[in-house]
Amino acid sequence: MVSMVTRDSDQWYQCDKCEMLFDNEADAKTHEEHCEGDEEPSYLQ
Ligand SMILES: [Zn+2]
Repeated sequence: MVSMVTRDSDQWYQCDKCEMLFDNEADAKTHEEHCEGDEEPSYLQ
């Protein structure tokens, strides 16, 4: 899920899974669809 947050008087969109910030909502939602969140990165296996 994507949350709106305010940082330094600017509006950002934050991925709830990994807390990455985006400056537009479309990018945030696209990211979130593919986000692995805080699961273990598969490349470590
Ligand atoms: Zn994410």
